Amino acid sequence: MDSKIKFYKFIVVGGGIAGVSCAEKLSSLCPDDEILLISASTLVKTITNYRKITKTLESFDVEERPMLSVETGCPNVKVVHKYVSLLEADKHILHTVDGTEYQYGKLCICSGGKPKLIAKDHPYVLGIRDTQSVKEFQKQLSTARRIIVVGNGGIATELVYEVEGCEVIWAIKHKSISSTFVDPGAAQFFLSSLNKEKSKEEAPSKRLKYTLEDDKYLASSTTKLGGALGPDWSAHLHMTGLMQTSHQVHVEYLVEIQKLLSPEEFESAGLSESCVPESFICDKSWPVYVQLTNDKVYGCDFIVSATGVTPNTDPFLTGNQFTIAEDGGFKVNDHMQTTVQDVYAAGDICTVSWELSQHWFQMKLWSQARQMGVYSAMCMVADDQKEDIQLDFCFELFAHCTNFFNYKRFNAQGLGNDYELLLRVTKDLEYIKVVLQNGRLQGAILIGETDLEETFENLILNQIDLTPFKEHLLEPNIDLEDFFD
Ligand code: FAD
Repeated sequence: MDSKIKFYKFIVVGGGIAGVSCAEKLSSLCPDDEILLISASTLVKTITNYRKITKTLESFDVEERPMLSVETGCPNVKVVHKYVSLLEADKHILHTVDGTEYQYGKLCICSGGKPKLIAKDHPYVLGIRDTQSVKEFQKQLSTARRIIVVGNGGIATELVYEVEGCEVIWAIKHKSISSTFVDPGAAQFFLSSLNKEKSKEEAPSKRLKYTLEDDKYLASSTTKLGGALGPDWSAHLHMTGLMQTSHQVHVEYLVEIQKLLSPEEFESAGLSESCVPESFICDKSWPVYVQLTNDKVYGCDFIVSATGVTPNTDPFLTGNQFTIAEDGGFKVNDHMQTTVQDVYAAGDICTVSWELSQHWFQMKLWSQARQMGVYSAMCMVADDQKEDIQLDFCFELFAHCTNFFNYKRFNAQGLGNDYELLLRVTKDLEYIKVVLQNGRLQGAILIGETDLEETFENLILNQIDLTPFKEHLLEPNIDLEDFFD
């Protein structure tokens, strides 16, 4: 070992929720070891008010704090604000851009992802990932009359609902909205909220709040690599365009972006804008035009590209034999180990490659980033001490709770082929869909205040044969909790 290089038994890269959860867990498991947390962001994400709602469902608040606050809570964690530029895995050495080298026993990479943009470095295309990119979005929106949102996941869904005073054309490649999270039936339930006046009542929120203090830290950030935003990120943000209108949304289904055109290109191609809803502006020239794969052309002030993330693997790749998954993440086994010795990965950077339980799948979410961060710390310590460790229970069942269109939404998924669906819908109030296979509950989507999440989670986990009760499962007058107690 080179004596000039400082050695840490455990090093974690990344100040997002995965990295911080990993470092905190390592700190509690190994109070006598010094742990190094390296983060390119000046603020780190920490979870407070953690509460287990059901066995697999959790709620928590998310706070962005100055990175040194981790050291206060965990005295054996040292935090440095640096960008890792190279990994020499054969020597167990990490290099940071300032030329410093750190040697590790075990390393956990939690470097997250960056938005997958439809066009790189295009002046009219914005991606949303961290606080800074949201601020840029708000700034541009304040002078906008029309935006085009591309993508059909959580970010696009929340944006489209939150934006007011600006026309929104929502371009999605599926045949129903929000398809990353809900099925076409639930999408239909949400659809009526799209052009409705937004309720001014505020639901209780877990959103992290940004203060002037935060701005100071952000302004000093040199890397522009903040951690990803999290739950309810959009709930209290002022997302208002230039016009005096509430929601105005037009959805284009089954399309992708074919071409982006400048006003000159639009003109010289002899194109004209496609019909927009009557209430939309139609006699304006725009700074940018979008041609969709259905050949429709729309102008707008700017485009929001919300089409997923690309894992931040670049600095770690040169000279190392990582196996990379199809989505660009580091493949990890059931010990959160990558294919490079003593290198673990957690959160948005990794792609699980163990044999999944029937009711769990990976989604790049806060909850999973936290669970993976904690579990990877447990694995690092168990492996170091040559102890066995069982896959954590949180990987048994996928459960996620969020708010879309002001409705609380819970789903637990895992579909087979020959399944049976039961549905209960009360317009504008609740949408309940359950999936049965051989009489056993396999998944559920619950929208609204249904209070059924715990009962349904138990029914998925214990796999009771529900055939005799099937007819009554969704009857509103039956108290299922009492029934299955
Ligand atoms: P990140 O939070 O991206 O953190 C990565 C960290 O690594 C950062 O600190 C970065 O600075 C650091 N880093 C990167 N490269 C280097 C390097 N080379 N050297 C040193 N440090 C480096 N999830 C939900 O569950 N619910 C939601 O409602 C929700 N909404 C979202 C809304 C938006 C707009 C976005 C962008 C994401 C949302 N997500 C949501 C997803 C969730 O935020 C992510 O899954 C989660 O934050 C990922 O955490 P992470 O720690 O893996 O990565």
